[in-house]
Amino acid sequence: MTRLLEGIESRRDDMVQLTIDLLAIPTVNPPGDNYRAICEFLKARLEPSGFECKLLRAEGAVGDSDRYPRWNIIARHEGSSAGSCVHFNSHTDVVAVGDGWTVDPFAGQVKDGKIYGRGACDMKGGLAASIIAAEAFLEAYPEYPGAIEISGTADEETGGFGGVAWLAEQGYFSPERVQHVIIPEPLNKERICLGHRGVWWAEIETYGHIAHGSMPFLGDCAVRHMGAVLNEFEDTLYPELAQRRTEHPVVPDGARYSTMNINSVHGGLEEAEADYTGMPSALVPDRCRMVVDRRFLLEESLDDVRAEVHSVLQRTQAKREGFRYDVRELFSVLPTVTDKTSPVVTAVAGAIEAELGQGPEYVLSPGTYDQKHIDRIGRLSNCIAYGPGILDLAHQPDEYVGIQDMVDATKVMARAMVDLLTGDSSDAVLGGVHNE
Ligand SMILES: [Zn+2]
Repeated sequence: MTRLLEGIESRRDDMVQLTIDLLAIPTVNPPGDNYRAICEFLKARLEPSGFECKLLRAEGAVGDSDRYPRWNIIARHEGSSAGSCVHFNSHTDVVAVGDGWTVDPFAGQVKDGKIYGRGACDMKGGLAASIIAAEAFLEAYPEYPGAIEISGTADEETGGFGGVAWLAEQGYFSPERVQHVIIPEPLNKERICLGHRGVWWAEIETYGHIAHGSMPFLGDCAVRHMGAVLNEFEDTLYPELAQRRTEHPVVPDGARYSTMNINSVHGGLEEAEADYTGMPSALVPDRCRMVVDRRFLLEESLDDVRAEVHSVLQRTQAKREGFRYDVRELFSVLPTVTDKTSPVVTAVAGAIEAELGQGPEYVLSPGTYDQKHIDRIGRLSNCIAYGPGILDLAHQPDEYVGIQDMVDATKVMARAMVDLLTGDSSDAVLGGVHNE
């Protein structure tokens, strides 16, 4: 163990440079730039340590095109004998830069013990940490049983369909192949993230009748109908959601309640082009569309979530003459939580205790991440998110990751590998645990 921890300390500069190199490849998504380049970079990094690297394009997946191909890498290192496989999964994409930066978002500036850049904490810092953990582990335990995998995957920020979802469909996360998954998302180095809330996205459309704006009584205003839907939400559904609090430790605290965001409302004339200087025409809008983003708790069911929005619409209909509507479901993800007694949880919890001198804080994420695909498509529930970086900095200007946090989290990951690959507990977990 001493050799392992010293190996990580001696790689501190290498880890910083690796993070800077990853930040310099601007994998901004959307549209999904430079996936191939970052996969090639990771391949060149990992092959010398004995990883066999596969570059896989998610052909046919949502988002994949010849202009913006969705490339992924799976790097696998086989141990000297049979055993379980520990897999580190990081997404390689970063969100748009946005305004408000005081440093170059792709230059990897290091200042006061922090590395700055778009994706520094979410999650190229975590990716670099897992690579250093694996390289130091291989040096200290060259004869280990089992296997280590590191993946760099596309499109997490846009749903993961050209990344982990596609790989899971191809069998890369099946429990026969992979037994323990750690996703180094920035959840803070003393936290283990066990899962996430559910999601239901839907588009509601109300219909009216077009007429001249000077004689609205001859038409029927779809926007007013939608206003009535919003009122019904305010009067009945929102107060109800604010009462529902999960028993699970979702962070931040506001996300322990059931929530619904009104993502957009569009009604009436299409918005004019930016260079149009004329006036709008006088029309009664005959259509209005609203997108809702409903996040639900482990204690709620998707059927109930759907049903209560439908009942809001039915109540509105009962009150309004001529009210017609449609609901189109856009997207849904069931909530998931990994059992605290799962091997990957106990191994990382023990590693945090050993490294940081205190037990972990268990949390659940307010939003989803790629664990959903590993759980639902891959049928592998022995999966957590654990990584360096402060969650609140993700997607912000002047995003950074602390170098000491990275070193600490790298040691935690490496200790967990020792437990899962060479320790007594590793035999008991082949096949993973699935609780549904
Ligand atoms: Zn992320």
